[in-house]
Amino acid sequence: MIAQNLAKIHHRIDAVKHSQEVTLIAVSKTKPATDLQQTIDAGQRHFGENYLQESLEKIETLKGQDLIWHFIGPIQSNKTKQIAENFDWVHSVDRLKIAKRLNDQRPENLEKLNVLLQVNIDNEPTKSGVLIDEIDALVAHFENFPNISLRGFMCIPSPANSASSFAKMSEILKKHANLDALSMGMSSDLELAIENGATFVRIGSDIFGKRA
Ligand SMILES: *Cc1c(COP(=O)(O)O)cnc(C)c1O
Repeated sequence: MIAQNLAKIHHRIDAVKHSQEVTLIAVSKTKPATDLQQTIDAGQRHFGENYLQESLEKIETLKGQDLIWHFIGPIQSNKTKQIAENFDWVHSVDRLKIAKRLNDQRPENLEKLNVLLQVNIDNEPTKSGVLIDEIDALVAHFENFPNISLRGFMCIPSPANSASSFAKMSEILKKHANLDALSMGMSSDLELAIENGATFVRIGSDIFGKRA
């Protein structure tokens, strides 16, 4: 079932993508390692997790299988050390303090931690992320952080106007010649996101089923 769902998502991606590389992140929050293993056996390598404690258990259980772990949930300061030690990408950086801590706490024997700035693209009071006006100043600061590599942006647009918000995000990326990654699109809107330039889509329920 899970492997079939995964194949369906690959078909959906292939049906809309043009020349760009689109990497599928299987969002496995609340799901057991046995569910993740089913997708690994079907070729899945990238996983997205929101909650640190459960993700650390899964990383440990599944180690040695050449997986790439993406932290995509809200980040409290006291969680940065374990995120910096255990993840390959962080999509949800939304303030300088968190970026600095990730930089300072990234172990020297690991490659640079790949980071995305989470953008509150529709300026919604209930959502985290930096505002569009704040992006340029924040991006400039990343030059001071040798152990993390700012790669691009992540957003979760308001469902009402996701197409135009995805397009807006893509325009902003183009203004930053040194950045190349756009994490946008979930189960319900992955096609729209890819048509507007997504390079990562984050798919949970359409692979693993509804969450409790
Ligand atoms: C849970 C989650 C997803 C996956 O959402 P689905 O609708 O289950 O595909 C994607 N991105 C983030 C940031 C999430 O928290």
